[in-house]
Amino acid sequence: MPLPKIDTDYQIDFLVRLLNIASPTGFAEPAVAFVEKELSRFKQLELYRTRKGALIAKWNVESSQPPVALTAHVDTLGAVVKEIKSNGRLRLSRIGGVEWPTVETEGVSIFTSKGEKIRGSVLCDTASGHIYGQAMKETPRDDDHMEVRLDARTTSDKETRALGIGIGDCAAFDPRVEVTNGFVRSRHLDDKACVANIVSAIKSLSDAGQSPARTVYFHISNYEEVGHGAASGIPAEVAELLVVDMAVVGAGQESDEFNATLCIKDAGGVYHEGFNKKMRALAEQHGIPYKTDVYRHYASDGEAFWKAGGDVALALIGPGIDASHNYERTHTDGLLATTNWVMAYLLS
Ligand SMILES: [Zn+2]
Repeated sequence: MPLPKIDTDYQIDFLVRLLNIASPTGFAEPAVAFVEKELSRFKQLELYRTRKGALIAKWNVESSQPPVALTAHVDTLGAVVKEIKSNGRLRLSRIGGVEWPTVETEGVSIFTSKGEKIRGSVLCDTASGHIYGQAMKETPRDDDHMEVRLDARTTSDKETRALGIGIGDCAAFDPRVEVTNGFVRSRHLDDKACVANIVSAIKSLSDAGQSPARTVYFHISNYEEVGHGAASGIPAEVAELLVVDMAVVGAGQESDEFNATLCIKDAGGVYHEGFNKKMRALAEQHGIPYKTDVYRHYASDGEAFWKAGGDVALALIGPGIDASHNYERTHTDGLLATTNWVMAYLLS
């Protein structure tokens, strides 16, 4: 039986809206709430939260087979205010694997504890070429030399504090979303692209009046980028956990932006051979364009669950994302391949 049709416009529109919601790890609630609101349209889903704040959507189905789970994360790289400098600018402490050169000159929003948003940008502390000349090039891009220049009148610690900014406030780098010729260019496609894949798959099944073959828990993770998102929240009765997260694109990689990828091994270890075979067979049966690959500097939320003692078969699929943890890009073809693969799995 052919897979239900994907509403591509809906999927891309949902993805763009999600990308534009700031959600660094620890401050991901607005994005979790956004996904929760969207999923509340589908009355067959039972929605609840874990104590940690992750969203679970349970699609209950009568079946003799044990339930399965899928996970994708809405938290992203980001930072918190570490220090207010005597010149009124901010030092940041990074969340997740942010590298400074990837955000130099980027726009940033500081969310104060009172709920205000203050804009600024990330610069090195020798940013003016007319002052520093060669020294600007030589300045190390590290925690001590990168700062936030606020778009507010402040030249002192006192004036910055008067704006309402305090230590520990969230700093979110601008995603700069752009959709052109089927390409989606933005920060944080890792892993909002895959949250959109899952939501789109649910919508397609729902629109077609179809249901998964067995009960499914969709786990929308909020602490993945610091390594323990799905360590909790997956019910013990779950037999298989399918992680939907980005595939690595670049030199030496098999993955690209037009395919979905099955990850066989990453830095966290090797995935489940039997589950991998099942995913390959489903892709082949449905003509889904896919690759297999190995990722060097990568660990998934599924491995976090395994390491926490989770007893499941584990597999990882996702669309190819170019320049990951940087200014990322993917293509609609890779997104649709992943959505189809998710649906094929749910129906199997
Ligand atoms: Zn990710």
